[in-house]
Amino acid sequence: MMNFALTEEQEAVRKMVRTFVDREINPHIQEWDAKGHFETSILKRLAELDLMGVCIPEKYGGSGMDYNTLAIVCEELERGDTAFRTAVSVHTGLNSMTILQWGDEFQKEKYLVPQARGQKVAAFGLTEPNAGSDVAAMQTTARREGSEYILNGSKTWISLCDVADNFLIFAKTDKEKGHHGISCFIVERTFPGVTTKAIKGKLGIRAGNTGEVFLEDVRVPAENRLGEEGEGFKIAMSALDNGRFTVGAGACGLINASLEASLKYCHERKTFGKEIGKHQLVQQMIAKMTANLEISRLLVYRAGWLKNQGKRNTRETSLAKWYACDAAFEAANDAVQIHGAYGYSNEYPVERFLRNAKAPVIYEGTREIHTIMQGEYALGYRVDKPLRKMLPAWPFEE
Ligand SMILES: Cc1cc2nc3c(=O)[nH]c(=O)nc-3n(C[C@H](O)[C@H](O)[C@H](O)COP(=O)(O)OP(=O)(O)OC[C@H]3O[C@@H](n4cnc5c(N)ncnc54)[C@H](O)[C@@H]3O)c2cc1C
Repeated sequence: MMNFALTEEQEAVRKMVRTFVDREINPHIQEWDAKGHFETSILKRLAELDLMGVCIPEKYGGSGMDYNTLAIVCEELERGDTAFRTAVSVHTGLNSMTILQWGDEFQKEKYLVPQARGQKVAAFGLTEPNAGSDVAAMQTTARREGSEYILNGSKTWISLCDVADNFLIFAKTDKEKGHHGISCFIVERTFPGVTTKAIKGKLGIRAGNTGEVFLEDVRVPAENRLGEEGEGFKIAMSALDNGRFTVGAGACGLINASLEASLKYCHERKTFGKEIGKHQLVQQMIAKMTANLEISRLLVYRAGWLKNQGKRNTRETSLAKWYACDAAFEAANDAVQIHGAYGYSNEYPVERFLRNAKAPVIYEGTREIHTIMQGEYALGYRVDKPLRKMLPAWPFEE
């Protein structure tokens, strides 16, 4: 049996986040974006609203809601701005859910609990100056010395770099082994040798914080290694299954925001004696946004449904992320088109939507990487094998 209805709890969460965004983000976002200002108080408010650990079990400090509730939160946050959805994507999707999946009880107690409660902020450090899509090209190293690892290297384009307390850092423990030589570590900002620096001059997500993380002889206790030595690549890819899910969900919010702004403007603006919404070529853009919002949501919810059952969902999540992000970019582009020259200025929000829509087509797997993945799945060249540790099914066990 299929059920397309959201639960009462999911509807209530959607309403709560929408109200929060309309009251506390939308009135200020143009200013924060123009100034390149990341408003950290929003993270505190998200913690107060129990939104920093939506799908983390209650016993680990989270709200214990299902994975699709996380999707709804991400959609509604990105309806406000991509910066705050990105924050939840890295904090919860890429970091906390990865500790939930791969961490031992010590790591869950020490790191997951405060993160899920929003007392600590978490980030994800995979990308390096010379290693983006090609993860195995990373140069950061982790050398074992007694009960510690010594980390050296640098990460770049790391969201929340300046505000995170904890980072998941991927580093090579064996340079000869390619993918199999990567390991994953929980690194605290306070560990000596960790420094960060924001990147300025970004096209979009200007109200967000993105930058570099430098690691200079950072001593990390061996108990902070997530999973086994050499398991880092698998851990990174499973983290992306969760991060991509939140990115795809957020893209639905950006489509919705583009649609809402366009519908309003279609009724306001007149050309040739009628509302521009009466012109069929404008209707075509509106119709495409409407269809893509529905299609993207369905793809995202299906991926969430698989997560709820504890099933592998790499293929479905990749498809949802790829489709929704391309659709969001198209929707934002069309929203600017519908607004004509006014859409080209920051008097209206749509130019911000267009600038923000670009990064999700690049991060968490570029459009090209997802295209290749889907081609390979269809052709049978790529098959997902069961992982040693899966994300727990929902409802969570007490
Ligand atoms: C705003 C923002 C926030 C980010 N946040 C984070 C974060 O929190 N943590 C993190 O680790 N990273 C983060 N990233 C980095 C992001 O994940 C990488 O930018 C992404 O993985 C792509 O890597 P790259 O930029 O090095 O591009 P490259 O891998 O160098 O790719 C360049 C171009 O070549 C194409 N290409 C590459 N390989 C192939 C191939 N095999 N076939 C066809 N085409 C190919 C790509 O699609 C792309 O068009 C962020 C990036 C941005 C923009």
